[in-house]
Amino acid sequence: MSEDYDYILIGAGSAGCVLADRLSADPRHRILVLEAGGSDRHFWVKVPLGYAFAHVDPRITVSCLTESDQGLAGRRIAWPRGRVVGGCSSINAMAYMRGLPFDFDDWAQAGATGWDWASVRAVYEALETKDARPQPGAVRISDLSRQMHPFSASFLRAAQDIGWPVLDDLNTGAAGLGYYRSTVWQGRRWSAADAFLRPALARGRVRLETRAKVARIEIENGAARGVTYRQHGRTLRANARREVILCAGAIHSPQILQLSGIGPGALLQAHGIAVHNPLSEVGRGLQDHLAVSYSFSAHPDTLNTALGTRLGRLKSGVQYLATRTGPLAVPVNQVGGYIASDGALRPDTQIYCNPMLYSYGPKGPEVTRASGYILCAQPCRPTSRGEIRITSPAPGDEPGIWPNSLSTEADCQSVIRAGRLLQRLARSATLTQASRAPIGPDLLSLDDDMLLDDFRARASTVFHPSCTCRMGDDPARAVLDARLRVHGTDRLRVVDASAFPNITSGNTNAPTMMLAARAAALILEDNR
Ligand SMILES: Cc1cc2nc3c(=O)[nH]c(=O)nc-3n(C[C@H](O)[C@H](O)[C@H](O)COP(=O)(O)OP(=O)(O)OC[C@H]3O[C@@H](n4cnc5c(N)ncnc54)[C@H](O)[C@@H]3O)c2cc1C
Repeated sequence: MSEDYDYILIGAGSAGCVLADRLSADPRHRILVLEAGGSDRHFWVKVPLGYAFAHVDPRITVSCLTESDQGLAGRRIAWPRGRVVGGCSSINAMAYMRGLPFDFDDWAQAGATGWDWASVRAVYEALETKDARPQPGAVRISDLSRQMHPFSASFLRAAQDIGWPVLDDLNTGAAGLGYYRSTVWQGRRWSAADAFLRPALARGRVRLETRAKVARIEIENGAARGVTYRQHGRTLRANARREVILCAGAIHSPQILQLSGIGPGALLQAHGIAVHNPLSEVGRGLQDHLAVSYSFSAHPDTLNTALGTRLGRLKSGVQYLATRTGPLAVPVNQVGGYIASDGALRPDTQIYCNPMLYSYGPKGPEVTRASGYILCAQPCRPTSRGEIRITSPAPGDEPGIWPNSLSTEADCQSVIRAGRLLQRLARSATLTQASRAPIGPDLLSLDDDMLLDDFRARASTVFHPSCTCRMGDDPARAVLDARLRVHGTDRLRVVDASAFPNITSGNTNAPTMMLAARAAALILEDNR
């Protein structure tokens, strides 16, 4: 049995939800969205502080484990991915960062013509809303600064102490610290599913199938004709009259291409997969952000005072349920921004400041009773590139992830410069006064070599894998053309974070949604 649609979207994540909205605006289109995960109606998905639980909850995430990473002292790191309606936008930390203008100018320079900052800026503006009520088809960006914990203002005073600008809006391209803007509305996460998919479903032209895992794209005569997927123990097929569009994210989109016979020829042959299109770069070019955190106990109250005891958690829970306000109603990354390290011509480090001490134990997040805070730094534009490769022809097996972290000297130097920035912030008069003692490694006692060693030993992913099916005009060096069409295979596109030519400087949800919004315009233009 099979059914016919105009477009088949694989994955209802950040990009898939935007596409479902934009493509279904045309009343002629019937669209099928196949999502491997289930419903997003989970308490911890909706509660902003619930991020701490959501992204480690196996009911709504799949925890991919990297291969041993030499740059990170041989460690294997968990890379959670949202396996739920909304994808990673349903489990992420909700910081809304567009990226910096030069990120997109670099995209254009890498062959993604039309993706320069001057072009994508207008796409962002059309995508975002700050209106009191969320507009269907737009992402709600909230300024929650008045609800942030009072201790978070200390981070901004600390920035001022050391001459870093304090910004009202972190999305202007300027360097400085400020309160993060968040994809939250009225105390609830406002995921891509809330902003885009639900309004699209309401039109009646989009069919969403959950727990529907695509096994492969069916390629006939050099063109994508449909997909085979598994749902509730059955194998099903759906046909696409116009296009199949992969939106399965930077780990699973290249996996699905490889399973479908599009990818490095030798790899596919080694797994007995018939090669339809020997595109060597499928899965290659992987980039991610890494960051390291330093914890301090503090004299003034921080979120630990409210959340470090059972009674405090109970009170916060009641406040949240009654009024959608309080500690649970705001994300934990409260203050941050882009900073240029010494000698850098442009911002090269993203900072995160959290007014709470917490760690992860076997049962999930653990919040201490004692007041404390965390400073964290992430180099913005790593140059190392890794790879995603299938390790078996079975769609149920997770692909291998080789991050190849810190494999360039430039990346090692950027880690040291990021550590020095955190040292300056920690030495500010405000944080010196507020702090009792370091918890864990003493940031202020580390020299350059020790900063790098500590990063290798403790840094982890910021959950931003991208670039594994990147745009570029040369099929020998890229997977997609600048209209996101797979080189050498017709009627097939990849529209998600895999398509980035290079990782953007900040968090990747906003650029992914922007990419999907512009992709939709290109798709509609090409199919007119
Ligand atoms: C824990 C965490 C925290 C983050 N915090 C932030 C943040 O604060 N701010 C920010 O900007 N970014 C953040 N990010 C990153 C951001 O959310 C992602 O970059 C973005 O959501 C990626 O969107 P995507 O469309 O590429 O993929 P996804 O949103 O991952 O969507 C892919 C979808 O495809 C589905 N899928 C996969 N395989 C198949 C298959 N075989 N068949 C059918 N469906 C399939 C998945 O279930 C998923 O729903 C975070 C990510 C994580 C994981």
